[in-house]
Amino acid sequence: MRTKTLKKNKINVITLGCSKNVYDSEVLMGQLVANKMEVEHESEKDDANIVVINTCGFIDNAKEESINTILVQAERKEAGMIDKLYVTGCLSERYKPDLERDIPNVDQYFGTTDLPKLLKVLGADYKHELLGERLTITPKHYSYLKIAEGCDRPCSFCAIPLMRGKHKSTPIEQLVIEAENLAKNGVKELILIAQDLTYYGLDIYKKRRLADLLTELSKVEGIEWIRLHYAFPTGFPQDVLDEIRDNDKVCNYIDIPLQHINDDILKSMKRGTSHDKTVALLKDFRTIVPNMAIRTTLIVGYSGETEEKFQELKNWVQDTKFDRLGVFTYSHEENTSAYDLDDDVPEKVKKVRAEEIMDLQTHISWELNQEKVGKIYKVLFDRKEGDYFIGRTEFDSPDVDNEVLVKAKDTYVRMGDFANVIIEKADHFDLYGVVVD
Ligand code: SF4
Repeated sequence: MRTKTLKKNKINVITLGCSKNVYDSEVLMGQLVANKMEVEHESEKDDANIVVINTCGFIDNAKEESINTILVQAERKEAGMIDKLYVTGCLSERYKPDLERDIPNVDQYFGTTDLPKLLKVLGADYKHELLGERLTITPKHYSYLKIAEGCDRPCSFCAIPLMRGKHKSTPIEQLVIEAENLAKNGVKELILIAQDLTYYGLDIYKKRRLADLLTELSKVEGIEWIRLHYAFPTGFPQDVLDEIRDNDKVCNYIDIPLQHINDDILKSMKRGTSHDKTVALLKDFRTIVPNMAIRTTLIVGYSGETEEKFQELKNWVQDTKFDRLGVFTYSHEENTSAYDLDDDVPEKVKKVRAEEIMDLQTHISWELNQEKVGKIYKVLFDRKEGDYFIGRTEFDSPDVDNEVLVKAKDTYVRMGDFANVIIEKADHFDLYGVVVD
């Protein structure tokens, strides 16, 4: 008998992909800890004998990263450095039969709704009473709050509904309990996530209730900032804008992937909106909440995106001046409805177009940042790096947006504290300032 397997199990969880996967890994680890199991997240010590990889299956690059991570750990298992290797998450949900055939050295593959099964093979029981409790991996002063799973939208390019299923909202009461638990553990900023945030409630309450949810979450003591990610343009609930404007705890910030602006492309993408409707929605945003930071995501190189249609997109980005913007090159995903179309834009052209949009946005971001010089902002400090304490304003989400840098030799702030900062200098994506009382 191999004594190695008798060793007390130590589990290392590796998370790939988006904030929703971070959330799911946190739930998994919360369950393992509650079962008195030793668990770490992306441990560098390499002393865990069991590895669980929570994969991403969204687009080509993400899939490649997931497969490479599985292969690395499979080699470590082959070399006897780990006993067991389990794979879960979106890639596993989407390609299980292929993965089982091509990478057989994984003990078991699980789907995105198989948490109880995964816990079972890890020797743990699924504890229902833990609802809303997790082992968070973000800095302890902010946390993601997944308010719904899955998506009912038909976007032609998107494989997410194939991996995450239909839209399923989490009841308001349960989310409030979760927020209270997080606040008790020091969380001050809640980042609300879903595949489609603005669809919240339509399934369980038969009406959109994101605004109501914001009202209830803002009553939770200790929570100071509530941030919205992954809104959807079509059927956007206006009462959410009123809540952003009137509720001090809701950040003047919204992340709303718009993907494109050309009517033919939007139609082919099955986004249910148009050029004019999108422009009108953004006008409403800026009229109802004038100083709201708007983040968006675009796709370039989608089937049929001629040079002319791309120029229309560029001109619109120039005119709209988004506060924050990310761009993806179109990934031709099997089993999506767009897969029947020609992937007619060469990869090289897709890359050039993505660079052109980001060059434009880098310049816009620089211009917008200059307007912040001389102004005072409430900043939440996330970390110390080199000579600086680094934080964010309410207009900046972690990992994707601007940061505020304050010289550490001039002042002292604790991570997770708020402080007022006057901006003295700004570059493309970072602001430099000093703390003022
Ligand atoms: S709303 Fe988002 S997650 Fe849903 S299908 Fe469209 S792109 Fe995919």
